[in-house]
Amino acid sequence: MSAVSLTLGDDGTLVASMDLPGRPMNVVGDALMAGIAEAVDKLADPAVKGMILTSGKADFCAGGDIDRMSKWTTPQQPFDASMAMKAVLRKLELQGKPVVAAINGHALGGGLELALACHTRIALDDARLKLGQPEVKLGLLPGGGGTVRLPRLVGMQSALQIMAEGNDLNPAKALAMGLLSAVAPDRDALMAQARAWIAANPKARQPWDVPKFRFPGGDSRSPAMAQMFAIAPSVAAAKSFGNYPAIGHIMSSVFEGGLMDFDAACMVESRYFAACCMSAESRNMIGTLWYQLNAIKKGASRPQGVARSKVSKLGILGAGMMGAGIAYVSAKVGMDVVLLDTTPEAAERGKAYSQGLLDKAVKRGRSTAEQRDALLARITPTTDYALLQGCELVIEAVFEDRAIKADVTRKAEAHLAASAVFASNTSTLPITGLAQASSWPAHFLGLHFFSPVDKMPLVEIIVGAQTSDETLARGFDYVLQIGKTPIVVNDSRGFYTSRVFGTYVMEGISMLAEGVHPRCIEMAGQQAGMPMPPLALQDEVSLSLGVHVADQTKAAMAEAGTAYTEHPGMAVVRRLCTLGRVGKKVGQGFYDWSEDGKQLWPELATLYPVAADQPAQREVIDRLMFAQANEAARCFEEGVLRSVADANIGSIFGWGFAPFHGGALQFINAMGAAAFVARARELASRYGARFEPAAVVVKQAQDGGRFADA
Ligand code: NAD
Repeated sequence: MSAVSLTLGDDGTLVASMDLPGRPMNVVGDALMAGIAEAVDKLADPAVKGMILTSGKADFCAGGDIDRMSKWTTPQQPFDASMAMKAVLRKLELQGKPVVAAINGHALGGGLELALACHTRIALDDARLKLGQPEVKLGLLPGGGGTVRLPRLVGMQSALQIMAEGNDLNPAKALAMGLLSAVAPDRDALMAQARAWIAANPKARQPWDVPKFRFPGGDSRSPAMAQMFAIAPSVAAAKSFGNYPAIGHIMSSVFEGGLMDFDAACMVESRYFAACCMSAESRNMIGTLWYQLNAIKKGASRPQGVARSKVSKLGILGAGMMGAGIAYVSAKVGMDVVLLDTTPEAAERGKAYSQGLLDKAVKRGRSTAEQRDALLARITPTTDYALLQGCELVIEAVFEDRAIKADVTRKAEAHLAASAVFASNTSTLPITGLAQASSWPAHFLGLHFFSPVDKMPLVEIIVGAQTSDETLARGFDYVLQIGKTPIVVNDSRGFYTSRVFGTYVMEGISMLAEGVHPRCIEMAGQQAGMPMPPLALQDEVSLSLGVHVADQTKAAMAEAGTAYTEHPGMAVVRRLCTLGRVGKKVGQGFYDWSEDGKQLWPELATLYPVAADQPAQREVIDRLMFAQANEAARCFEEGVLRSVADANIGSIFGWGFAPFHGGALQFINAMGAAAFVARARELASRYGARFEPAAVVVKQAQDGGRFADA
């Protein structure tokens, strides 16, 4: 069965409908391209006046077939595949009869490239429809002619923005920039407009195949573009620190392609495409941000055999920063939310947070007044526990205090059905201990959100000693229901994300005490690909909170009879706190913070004199990254982590572990266990036992193993 069904109408219009058998979406691979090649051949039939390329599925085409790409082992394979696709598309646009892309759903990556090869593009006028070239997000570039056609259609600057940033466009934006020629209100109108275009343009040609074609806005030789190319690569490099080679390859392909004819440009693009496909960065990102993320979304960490559940009424205890955010994201997907605090004013303030976000969205045209009012109507601020009756799930986000948490748990449970699930959003307190306050500890779990809740994509689900599989499954379903990504970890101090994230910040701070220049430390954090440098990050989180958590941990461990070894970085944090420099909230920490920005506190050098001998920058970067990867490996070894996918996705989505490494455990996989162990031991001999490689990695180095889910 062909992947493209062909129907010739009485008016001579050939409708080529992409419908890849056995797949939920159309993806560009051998099967789809063979179907399109057949359609192009059919255009030679004198009875055919033109063709509409559309899709028989809900979306037009989702992009390249990642499974096929993952099998490529030599650069020749992606080069050949990319050239073969372009040969078909080149034939399509040069055969002399008009071809219209009727875009009925998302057209992304290779899907948009198919549409770009058509003589014009009309899309459904649906604000949710996505058009874009997201390849860069997996370390790739558009290898189906995208870097050649897009700049020739919308100009180099817009094309670079679309491809180097990888963000989607909606039809209205795409129409405004000339990527689409029209939009249609519904599917019938879409097809009618496409037919009309064919009738009106019997001899369609692409603009770049017309003599005297000029790039809109100029080609690479034009003064304006020359000026842009003098700046854009350095701006991109300053942002990415050279960690994402695909960005450079996209720019090179567009620039070089803008100096040569169409077919030569296509060949240049295929070479850069091959380079991207073979890069370690792309392999890391595809492995984690595609395969592992998809596995998580499909429920790899969700207990089997529990029926899917949905929350229709949610209770939230504590309407502070976290409670207010959780209320917003939950009401947004249609849940009724009871938002409870100690005073009506505090509860109202929590609801006002949603109002603020929504007012902004209405102002920017991303929402309507009706949508805003409907969402707000679903949030009931209150001080009355009786209103919790009927909630399937209650999330507690009150102060980080065991006694208060125990109190609200009891009060809430008095009004809940025995089937309700109770979750704590604690960031540090072990879940098993908190569950002691519950009458149904099997129904108790941790749902650890990240701040700001409306922006952060991850929720860390914590399984207490008594949490049942059903409770875990229901927590998991809720996280998916609010559109976030769940990872599942076992109960332990700091869980997974806070524990590993802490090692990054603490390693940076301990280097300060050793005399490493603070600017080197901060620069190393950025060069390593972390979203924020360690000292600035501690200022954001607040130094006093760091001390509070460390003291709590120390006390709890003493109570449990376990030894507590404080990280050398903590002494620095304590010292700054005694000087009142407790972080950004008071404008003073490692930095002086002001309205105009931040500046490293000049007196740091007096407190911690800068050593005459500074380490190589590589050494500083390695310390920051090995500290995290090694701690993640320990979490795996101790059973805090339940899967490699959760470890990697949790690290990228939770605290921004450099995505090009593919996550904290993939960092070790990519390097190879033996190399990791050797380097970790080197670091341990210089900086302390915390770098001694986790036993699980040492064993991998001996057996040739690696981190992988079954
Ligand atoms: P917050 O101080 O902003 O809000 C806490 C709210 O709880 C306040 O509105 C307070 O009035 C209310 N509250 C206190 N006692 C109460 C009681 N007995 N009954 C009802 N309401 C009560 O704190 P937050 O930052 O929103 O943190 C809340 C929880 O989430 C804490 O456990 C914290 O550790 C955790 N957490 C915080 C973050 C973060 O980045 N802030 C991230 C993850 C988890």
